[in-house]
Amino acid sequence: MDKRARFSLGYFLWIFLLFWVLEGLFFSGPAVPEIPYSTFLSDIGKGKVATVVLTEQTIYGEFKGPTDKAAAAKKKDSLEVEDKATPWRFSPGAIAAWFSSAGEKVQQAEEDREAEAKLQFTVVALKDTELLDLLASHDVEFRAKIENNFLRNLFFDWIVPFGILFLVWTFIMRRMGGGAGGGVLNVGKSKAKIYELDAESRIHFGDLAGVDEAIEEVAEVVSFLKEPEKYQRLGAKLPTGVLIVGPPGTGKTLLAKAVAGEAGVPFFSLSGSDFVEMFVGVGASRVRDLFKDAAQKAPCIVFIDELDAIGRARGGRNAAGMGGFDERENTLNQLLVEMDGFDGRTGVVIMAATNRPEVLDRALLRPGRFDRQILVDRPEREGRIAIYRIHAKQLTIGPDVDFEKLGSQTPGFVGADIANICNEAALLGSRNGHDAVLMSDFQDAIERVIGGLEKKGRILNESERRRVAYHESGHALVGFFTPGADPVEKVSIVPRGRGALGYTLQTPTEDRYLMTRDELLGRVRTLLAGRGSEETVFGDISTGASDDLEKASQLVRSMLTVYGMSTRLPNLSLVEPGGESFLGFGPQQSEHSADISRLLGEEQLEILKSCYDEGLALLAQHREKLEALAERLLEREKVDSTDLAELLGARPE
Ligand code: ADP
Ligand code: MG
Ligand code: ZN
Repeated sequence: MDKRARFSLGYFLWIFLLFWVLEGLFFSGPAVPEIPYSTFLSDIGKGKVATVVLTEQTIYGEFKGPTDKAAAAKKKDSLEVEDKATPWRFSPGAIAAWFSSAGEKVQQAEEDREAEAKLQFTVVALKDTELLDLLASHDVEFRAKIENNFLRNLFFDWIVPFGILFLVWTFIMRRMGGGAGGGVLNVGKSKAKIYELDAESRIHFGDLAGVDEAIEEVAEVVSFLKEPEKYQRLGAKLPTGVLIVGPPGTGKTLLAKAVAGEAGVPFFSLSGSDFVEMFVGVGASRVRDLFKDAAQKAPCIVFIDELDAIGRARGGRNAAGMGGFDERENTLNQLLVEMDGFDGRTGVVIMAATNRPEVLDRALLRPGRFDRQILVDRPEREGRIAIYRIHAKQLTIGPDVDFEKLGSQTPGFVGADIANICNEAALLGSRNGHDAVLMSDFQDAIERVIGGLEKKGRILNESERRRVAYHESGHALVGFFTPGADPVEKVSIVPRGRGALGYTLQTPTEDRYLMTRDELLGRVRTLLAGRGSEETVFGDISTGASDDLEKASQLVRSMLTVYGMSTRLPNLSLVEPGGESFLGFGPQQSEHSADISRLLGEEQLEILKSCYDEGLALLAQHREKLEALAERLLEREKVDSTDLAELLGARPE
């Protein structure tokens, strides 16, 4: 339970206590004994009862006794007279005297009440029509009273149940809201986290690498935030909205923080999904609050992470019929309205990040809104090397670590992957008892990130192990003897990750932007060589090749339908225009006839077959090397590139 929940619970307890006290003050004096109705009747008969007060549920009565009410009243009067007679003076003596006399009076009153209480009784009322006659005939003074239980009823009939409902509701809302901050009472408040970091913990451009172009583009924003007057002097407006676009993990969030850090301004950060709540109208009011807060803190940065969560195009196919989308649209509309209300002069820069710019509503990208887009792309080799260096700064690095090589081996990796590898390497290094993180730790970390965790616990039986060893040796050998293929870094028959029983790691030496037809075919050949080796050695094939087959088939399919490398349908592309996704989901295929489908299918099969046969030929040609490699694998489980060079000799150019 967080602060706010405790707060409302605290209120509830206080109210409860207050009523308890009031209840005690108004409704109960000293304990009055309750007597049975039968005793009550017989006491009336015996003439012991002096007075009764009848209420609906209870009869309050008093026995005859020595306490003379009139006398008591007189005494009270006399006390009051005495009070008035005493002139009030501010002297310690007088105050002390007053206190002691007050004390005495209180004590006296208490004693009186106790004496009275001894004579009092209560009876639970019954429907007794003869009671009044009985009381009258025994000369008992009686009167009726409508019991005023207003406070009590209010409390127990209304406040307690509603209080409990309220608490339960709060609890449920909290569960569903699932977030920090913002209780039921302020669902509409902005949840923005403000970062006003002190100079040391600020993030700077130096904490990012491989995104130099993006940094150049935001530099202007930084200088505006630093000296707004300089720009305002000539009436210049800064672009209000800066949209950072790029694949996940490339450092978009980091870049936005670095802008704030460099400029030294407050940073309001909110994620798009924070706006989308189950309550109608909450998202919109959150946007309003956020901008109001920001205006007060200007110059500052408002950063909306994962903008696509609210910024998706309105009225799209998905929008039909679902209430949740209306709410999102309200939020988006509010965002548009607020952005228009800000011109560059207010000194609030709105930044947003997304990895799906193509789904954003056009209105968001219009001039005056997020009109400046900055691409943060996957880093190139140099960038990756620099990112390794940044993240290695916090580690104790061994002398043999070669960042250049690490950068080469991890094409396509983004900053977040590299940060992860560095951390994994440090963990592995500590586990292996190294004094520093060594190159081998980095290599293992890369393998782990690519292939998943080693599953040492999975024990293969001897014949399976042999099959896996030959399968992997097949990949390695064909990869090794295929010109232009990425060098084989490592072969292993330790099970890893999801389902992989062994693997062959080929890592490139440089970033590639183009692949020739021959290189693609070489890749297919290498993929199919695992199965080929099984067939060569055991004369039978297994299920172990399914993943290879999927990749090979897909690759051939792309050669034919995306890259137009078909011989029967040369230069044909079946890519649906606009269908390609930023995230790299396979491009959609445009409609094509059954004839074309058949031709493509046939050619796909032919290519797969010829690649497989070429692999078989290579394996037959180097049969002894295949055996030697498999034997080494069975013996040591892993073979690295140096072993490989020793076993296989020089690689053909
Ligand atoms: P995004 O917002 O693009 O998904 P983040 O900015 O959240 O990615 O990056 C996640 C983490 O990855 C960062 O905290 C940082 O450690 C690391 N990282 C990402 N990109 C870079 C980069 N270009 N330079 C250095 N570290 C990076
Ligand atoms: Mg992010
Ligand atoms: Zn395989």
